[in-house]
Amino acid sequence: MNIVILSRNPHLYSTQRLIEEGRKRQHKVEVIDPLKCDIIIEKEKPTIYYKDRYLDYVDAIIPRIGASITFYGCAVVRQFEMMNVFSIVSSGAILRSRDKLKSLQLLSKAGIGMPKTVFTNYSRDVEEVIAHVGGVPVIIKLLEGTQGLGVVLAETKNAAESVLEAFNGLEARVIVQEFIKEAKGADLRALIVDGQVVGAMKRQGKEGEFRSNLHRGGSAKIIKLSDAELKLAMNAAKALKLPVCGVDMLQSARGPLLLEINSTPGLEGIEGATGRNIAKAIITYIEKNR
Ligand code: ADP
Ligand code: MG
Repeated sequence: MNIVILSRNPHLYSTQRLIEEGRKRQHKVEVIDPLKCDIIIEKEKPTIYYKDRYLDYVDAIIPRIGASITFYGCAVVRQFEMMNVFSIVSSGAILRSRDKLKSLQLLSKAGIGMPKTVFTNYSRDVEEVIAHVGGVPVIIKLLEGTQGLGVVLAETKNAAESVLEAFNGLEARVIVQEFIKEAKGADLRALIVDGQVVGAMKRQGKEGEFRSNLHRGGSAKIIKLSDAELKLAMNAAKALKLPVCGVDMLQSARGPLLLEINSTPGLEGIEGATGRNIAKAIITYIEKNR
C-alpha cells in the first residue's frame, strides 16, 4: 500500500515509528507536509498537487495535523476524502475534537461523565458562574489551548474574577470547570485504535503542579484501566467518531470523568510507558479497513 503521513516534521518520534512499522509490513510510506499541498477542486477529478506531482496513487493517509495548522491541514484531509482515500480519522472528526466546547457538548449528549463545565460569554456575575460548578477552586481553560498552556487553577473568587477578566480582555474564549481535587494532579490517557483501548498510562504532574501534561514536566507510567474507565474511553471515542485517538480522563470520587480527546495523540509517551507497539496497531488498522 502507499501510505502517506501528513505531518510537518518527519523527524518526530510518532512519525518515525509509523514509517518504521509501515515499512516493516512492506508498505511504501512517505511523509508529506500538508502546508505544501495544493488542493485542486474540479467536477470530475479532485486532486492534490505536491511539489512536482499529483498525489493520485495514495491508498491511505495518517493525518498528524498540529493545532496551529488545523484549518489548512483539515482541508487537505478532506480533499483526500473526496478522492476516496482512506484516512484513519476524518477531517470532520479532527475539527470537532479541536474545539473543547463543541466536544464536551457532543460528549455530554452521549452520556459521558465529565467535570461540570460552564461556558460563558463573559458574565460579570462571576459568583454565579462559580456557583454553577460547585464553588471555588475552579479550573479556567482556553477553548483552544494545548499542552497544558491556557489551563489555570483559580483558588478564590477574586482570582477567578481576575483571570476571567484577563482572558476577556484578550478576547479569548474560556470554559469554567469544576476542579477535580481527588485526581491529585494526575490524569489517565487511553490510546484507542480501531475503537479499542490498546494502551493506557497514568500521567502525574511534577511536584506542586495540578497539570499532568508531559510537556509541563509530568511523568507517565503504565496502568490497567478499570472496566468503567475502559468503557468511558471507548464510548467517548465512538461519540466523537474517532477510531484512532487519545482519550484523557480524571479519576474522581464519582468515577472516571472525561477530560479531553486528542485526534493526533503522540506515541512516544504511551509506547515508552506501556512497551506496547501502538504504531504497528495503527498500520494494522489501515490494512484491515482500507
Ligand atoms: P490541554 O489541552 O492544555 O492539555 P487539559 O484540559 O487536558 O488541557 O488540562 C491540562 C491538565 O490540567 C490535565 O491533564 C489535568 O491534569 C489538569 N486538569 C484539567 N482540567 C482539570 C479539572 N477540571 N480538574 C482537575 N484537573 C484538571
Ligand atoms: Mg490535555
